[in-house]
Amino acid sequence: MRTLTTLDDLRLELDAARLSGRSIGLVPTMGALHEGHLSLVDRSVAENGVTVVTIFVNPTQFRPGEDLEAYPRQLQDDIALASERGADIVFAPPVHEIYPDGYSTTVSVVGITETLCGAPERRGHEHFDGVTTVVAKLFNMVQADRAYFGQKDAQQVAVIRRMATDLNFRTKVIACPTVREADGLALSSRNAYLTAEERPRALALSKALRSVAGALSDGQRDVATLSAIARDELSVTDSVEYFEIVDPDTLEPVSTIERPVLAVTAARVGKTRLIDNFLLEPHATAVTTPTNPNPTPQAAHLQG
Ligand code: AMP
Repeated sequence: MRTLTTLDDLRLELDAARLSGRSIGLVPTMGALHEGHLSLVDRSVAENGVTVVTIFVNPTQFRPGEDLEAYPRQLQDDIALASERGADIVFAPPVHEIYPDGYSTTVSVVGITETLCGAPERRGHEHFDGVTTVVAKLFNMVQADRAYFGQKDAQQVAVIRRMATDLNFRTKVIACPTVREADGLALSSRNAYLTAEERPRALALSKALRSVAGALSDGQRDVATLSAIARDELSVTDSVEYFEIVDPDTLEPVSTIERPVLAVTAARVGKTRLIDNFLLEPHATAVTTPTNPNPTPQAAHLQG
């Protein structure tokens, strides 16, 4: 496996791969790799001749109050993990390689970036601008056949799909199921911030989603009732940013569940902001079972 830090070196490697007819898979990450990230690497390795894992702590997607400097960084461990899982290239550029002096372009998706994690009071639209700008740049740099993202960040997947469609990127966006701890907590680099007292309370998000899935499978389709069930579970967190049941593509709220929907939540436990979601179907139990560390894939239309 090669570790590269410049775009010139990356292009040389990838041009050679393309000439030899190999397909290219891209797995964008901010590092501190865990089994969630590595599940994306596994899928890319299974589906492509060459897998590029990018490790870049993108300064433009940090929210106000989020500490960029404190974000976990463990490049040597990440390189070892990516290599063990069969990645061919780790691209870990310094900030000036991505945003050189004079850099002035932002890629901005409107609409679906202004709700949920993007709500104006969270200045979340700026966060998504940071995400779409860096992902657009990585799509251009790598020109992958396929790029892999986690359904854990469901809104991010919807926003990136929109961007890729709107800007005619050839890279196919593929969403992969959320990987969880055995007790249901969705894996996240930010879980490292949780104290021993906070860790059990962090379970409230997946418990709330599981309770909603259970009530739905018992026949309850009214979103107001389901939201009350969720908010009851979420009351052990320090603050609930949102719990909503929305259309998986448009992220528009629904009032009754007649077709597949996304139940999404964000809450703070201590200083840590956590997010989670389940895809729910009216005629079945939840597609993701939080106690299952290897959940079955979510609905096909979210799989890319
Ligand atoms: P990040 O390093 O947090 O930017 O995440 C990089 C990619 O890994 C994103 O596409 C995330 O959605 C994905 N990811 C993060 N956590 C998980 C998880 N628990 N299961 C599956 N994918 C994940």
